[in-house]
Amino acid sequence: MADDYKGPVPVPTPETQDFWDGAKRGELRLQRCDDCSNVIFPARSFCPACACRSVSNFTASGKGKLYSYVINHRPPPGFGPDPHAIAIVELDEGPRMMTNIIDCEQTPEALVLDMPVEVAFTPITDEISLPKFRPVGG
Ligand SMILES: [Zn+2]
Repeated sequence: MADDYKGPVPVPTPETQDFWDGAKRGELRLQRCDDCSNVIFPARSFCPACACRSVSNFTASGKGKLYSYVINHRPPPGFGPDPHAIAIVELDEGPRMMTNIIDCEQTPEALVLDMPVEVAFTPITDEISLPKFRPVGG
């Protein structure tokens, strides 16, 4: 448990409960449209591509690549090591997630765009684990 975590704790909604339940189990959960197969993140009750209201949850691979990032040199108190990267990971299934890259120097030299990353969950409360990503084989 990250006892030193002082950032905001996400509050699950009916749409995101499956995502947070999965994160607690160590699974990255996404949704897929039952009509057009569009992969949906963050979770919602309809497909943003075709407006179909039939969407199903599934467990994603947890793999992706580093799409973009900024290095935050002055994060607010409790937002982790200083400085750290706020990253966007493009999942193999398509959606992009804002996250942090862990087990990696927070420098432009170490944070190589398009490098393969995999999900790693950080528990912050009994109910909530945050999905973060680390370099594959790094
Ligand atoms: Zn759709």
